[in-house]
Amino acid sequence: MPSVSFVSLGCAKNLVDTEVMIAKLGAAGYELEADSEQADTVVINTCAFIDPAKAESTDVIMEHAARKHPGQQLVVAGCLAQRYGEQLQSLVPEIDGVIGTGAYASIVDLLDDIEAGRRPVNLAFEAEPEHDFLPRLITTPKSTAYLKIAEGCDHPCTFCIIPQLRGKFRSRSMESILAEAHALAANGTKELILIAQDSSMWGRDRGMRRGGLAQLLERLNDEVDGLEWIRLLYLYPATVDSELIEAMARLPKVCKYMDMPLQHAHPDVLRAMLRPSNGERYLEIIEDFRNRVPGVTMRSTFIVGFPGETDEHVAYLEEWIARAGLDRVGFFEYSPEEGTPGAQLPDPVPVKEKRKRLIRLRDAQRRASEIARERRVGTVVRVLVEEERRLRKNDPARQQLGDATRAWFGRSQGEAPGVDGGLYFTGDAVIGDFVDVRIDGQAAFDFVGTLCALVTHE
Ligand code: SF4
Repeated sequence: MPSVSFVSLGCAKNLVDTEVMIAKLGAAGYELEADSEQADTVVINTCAFIDPAKAESTDVIMEHAARKHPGQQLVVAGCLAQRYGEQLQSLVPEIDGVIGTGAYASIVDLLDDIEAGRRPVNLAFEAEPEHDFLPRLITTPKSTAYLKIAEGCDHPCTFCIIPQLRGKFRSRSMESILAEAHALAANGTKELILIAQDSSMWGRDRGMRRGGLAQLLERLNDEVDGLEWIRLLYLYPATVDSELIEAMARLPKVCKYMDMPLQHAHPDVLRAMLRPSNGERYLEIIEDFRNRVPGVTMRSTFIVGFPGETDEHVAYLEEWIARAGLDRVGFFEYSPEEGTPGAQLPDPVPVKEKRKRLIRLRDAQRRASEIARERRVGTVVRVLVEEERRLRKNDPARQQLGDATRAWFGRSQGEAPGVDGGLYFTGDAVIGDFVDVRIDGQAAFDFVGTLCALVTHE
């Protein structure tokens, strides 16, 4: 049986593509091999979001090209593949095949072509992301799975290459999403994480002008047995509607968690970025969530040092951060992406200045996050137990847990995996169960707490 090994880089959307490719190859008789040295084929699913991501993807390709053994096939998939296509093969002749972000589901055909002695490059875009996603091999912990509800993006953000790499926005059909959700839940998924470039846009290209995502959430909430949490990532300020906020407030399985990348707050910078409206409107949306979804946790991301950004713009954003009081924010230094309008803009911000601004804004957010975290101390939250961790001597959680050397680590509705930290506690627990934990205090970016009760057991 031929074997295949995967390296998946980049975001959760790429991870879902990797899982689909693994499933397709599994169904075609390939065996998954953890050790890439032993595999007949190595597939590297790359990221090309910003320069450091491109550099990491390139390093991984070069590393595998250097140790490729006779008879082994090397395939490059994902965003870097979509962006550079055949160029990759001419620069790195060890690459046998290239498959882009719109064609990854045809991975079996690509490997057949390589087997037949060709060096295929497939950068086609499927008209509809409706191909059969089942059965998917889930690489995240069993209780959590990502589900892609749409592909592509129609927004014109001037810093972003994604629309060129992922094509126009195409929503998956309600039926296709529900079918996959049922299959995932039957396989043990308790937390379903819905993703897309702009999740709140879901349904608009299918004729639903408003409330499409709310309808989808309602059906997932009501019809899919076994799910406990439905988490939404990557909302877009101009497509968030009142129905969505109402659905988040009303539906018991939908996590009270808002993740809306805003990128900036000053109207001048947002205009240059071709992003919608302004910081004042963003504050209104945030207030709307806060007022209508009690206990909601909110996250965003911002870009620092976009061309033309002045000290005044940064001061505005700094103040905005304090006013917004978001729970968590990720900051990225702007890097000009070849092929984007932003890369042509005058007045680049010098690297040193970008770094200074980043530190300044992170400090402002640190204060806001501490206040937000402090508000949660003393509350009891339901936690999905993810793993047991060893605590090092200087670990802040260890000091607060009576010098415990091991502790359970889990997440509440307020923490998305991989970006938000979580909660440490000791006592009796089982991975994959839900438990109630009283939050006793903060430990750096995490919480520590006391176990209250076991809620569910497999
Ligand atoms: S919304 Fe903007 S930043 Fe997000 S993927 Fe689309 S173009 Fe890129």
